[in-house]
Amino acid sequence: MADSPSYNANRWQRFSDWDKRPLRLDQFAVEDPENGFSAFSGAKDPKPGLAITDGKITSMDGVALKDFDMIDAFIAQHHLDLDVAEEAMAMSSGDVARMLVDMNVPRVELTRLARGMTPAKLAEVVAQLNAMEISFSYSKMRARQTPGNQAHVTNAKDDPLQLGADAAIAVALGFDEIETTMRVSRNAWSNAMACCVGSSVGRAGTLFQCSSEEAEELEIGMAGFTSYAETVSVYGTESAFIDGDDTPWSKTWLAAAYASRGIKMRCTSGAAAELLMGFHEAKSLLYLEARCLCVQRGMGSQGTQNGGIDGAPLASTMPGGVRELMAENLLAVWLDLECASGNDARHSESEIRVGAKILPFLIAGSDLICSGFGSILKYDNSFNPSSFNGEELEDFLVLQRDFEADGGLKSVEEATALSLRTQAIEALSYVFEDLELSTPDENMKRSVAVASGSDDTDSYLPRAVADISDQIKDRAITVVDVIKSLHKGGFIEEAENLLFLVKLRVSGDYLQTSAVVRDRKIISAINDPNMYQGPGTGYRLSDERREELATIRDVLDRESVLRAEAIYEPAESKRVSYHTRGPAEPGTNPAEVVIALSPGFGNTLFRTLAGHPLSRVIGELKAGIEGEGTTMRIVRCRHTADTSFLGLTAAGLSGSGVGIGLQAKGTAIIHHKERLPHNNLELFSNAPITTLEHYRGMGRNAAIYARGDMPDPIIVPTHGEALGARFHARVALTYAIETEMTQDGASPELIDVRLTEETS
Ligand code: CA
Repeated sequence: MADSPSYNANRWQRFSDWDKRPLRLDQFAVEDPENGFSAFSGAKDPKPGLAITDGKITSMDGVALKDFDMIDAFIAQHHLDLDVAEEAMAMSSGDVARMLVDMNVPRVELTRLARGMTPAKLAEVVAQLNAMEISFSYSKMRARQTPGNQAHVTNAKDDPLQLGADAAIAVALGFDEIETTMRVSRNAWSNAMACCVGSSVGRAGTLFQCSSEEAEELEIGMAGFTSYAETVSVYGTESAFIDGDDTPWSKTWLAAAYASRGIKMRCTSGAAAELLMGFHEAKSLLYLEARCLCVQRGMGSQGTQNGGIDGAPLASTMPGGVRELMAENLLAVWLDLECASGNDARHSESEIRVGAKILPFLIAGSDLICSGFGSILKYDNSFNPSSFNGEELEDFLVLQRDFEADGGLKSVEEATALSLRTQAIEALSYVFEDLELSTPDENMKRSVAVASGSDDTDSYLPRAVADISDQIKDRAITVVDVIKSLHKGGFIEEAENLLFLVKLRVSGDYLQTSAVVRDRKIISAINDPNMYQGPGTGYRLSDERREELATIRDVLDRESVLRAEAIYEPAESKRVSYHTRGPAEPGTNPAEVVIALSPGFGNTLFRTLAGHPLSRVIGELKAGIEGEGTTMRIVRCRHTADTSFLGLTAAGLSGSGVGIGLQAKGTAIIHHKERLPHNNLELFSNAPITTLEHYRGMGRNAAIYARGDMPDPIIVPTHGEALGARFHARVALTYAIETEMTQDGASPELIDVRLTEETS
């Protein structure tokens, strides 16, 4: 047996590197079906089955009628359509799964069949699909054609001024629905009024929810402040229902109460809720969620907020957990429910996992892609940090742009953002004063207008908010009082926007499945049904919407590059001047190095990609060359802008046969006249990280080559920067500017470069 190794290795250090990744903060759990840790195959998941005798269900999914729990009983009574059940249950699950991904099978045929399927059957079908098939099927099966999104608007202080300002921003970003909740439950009424006013700024029709204790939430809805509710929770086991003092029937009653007052209503359910509560019955996440969704369809709910929600982080600890979240969203839309498709509670510390999780929904589209996108910063998100928050909002905008996928959002310009915030703050402040609720001072308003989050504000604290909230409740102030007050204060547009929404409640139009308001019109599964049937059908970006998605902050074009360069011209003209001295002749001095400059060097372009003034680069090269007792001669090329050919031209003119090619963007090369164009001596291709010391070293090395010696090559070290992402747009635009300046057959010209003392 070999001796153990003598070097004392105890760990491959890569594991220490991995330990530092945000991913390692995530926990992962083994699959353990007996204890509820299974995404798709619970230890006690039943086999699908349905027995019907004399038009009555006698057993369902392996449970006899007499053994039904209340969920079974509710599903048998209110979900299953016996006209379809026999046909649907007799079909092979594999065949139905293939129909789900078959673009030639219309959506309505599948929603018809779903009405006749038991929870175990529905779960068995979608479990056959891989992640890509689930995403594709989701795209085909979702109810409304046009995608949308939903935002959280909350803050850690329950500060109403900030809620108003942030609500106005969420509206401008394009969210169809915004919702709030509070840190201190007494503050519910203040939060409701603040978001309600803020959401009326800039555009009419953004639906609003205030998530609080069920009875109070309903009261706030009755007072007219809110226009939707989605906190009616449904569970997949009887014990979980009982734990919340509820039954499917009590939830149905609550749902009907909302709908009767014109409040759009959807339920909430999601993987792992039962597991978190300890009532999983050794059943899989998917099967339990299938039960939840059948209950919701049976309730007559407009839709569901599902896909993990609070349980998403737990579901994601299991193998296949994220695929399960997708599968349960698919079940929801297959059952013809509007789907606010999770992507809500942040399931991971890893930005890669977060980005990967959103993508299937972004490209498939969804009624509401996130059932709570944090439009505010993470620490201000009173629901819990979302997958995407204020911090990551621009990342989401870029994902939309990358994939030309409509995530429901658009950019807001800086100046617009500030004026919307100010308008919301002014409107709410007026209402507060007018209704004698509070008088915010100028300092409070100003601090909120510019604040990114509540850490930056000098405004209301929760204690003061509770007093405002109590007054709204105790004095029975309603949305009509707010509308009148806005109007009285000259906030006519805001008053009209709010009145518009309240009138919609009377018509009940947005009680249709998947209803949202766009351009003051309801769009829903009724008048904007998803008709996907393959390429060219379904939701497609209009030219106008495509343009909107493409418009993000700081996008480069040729003119912006030239404008940015021009800013540097005055300073450069003080440091350096270039004088043309006629055609460049081949040199005879064996102790010279020739530098060939690109066409735009120092006349159109003035700094390298690393930001060094071009005069300084010449100064360093000169110092390096002359430091070795060699002389420097400079020529300008107009026949090429290519580094290799600049270098070769310089070498051909050089008495030593060694030359340097230098592009304005800072890319440089040392060449010899007898070498092939792309077989240079040294190349500095990473201009963005090339320092002035590197250029000095390059000058020195060129001089050493010139006298026939071999120097140590200069290495420009990278640290893994995504240099392509950081610079290539500017590189390509800059290179194009230089290429356009070239003239075929132009001869190199000798240039007298005069550096001021400061530079040299
Ligand atoms: Ca939500």
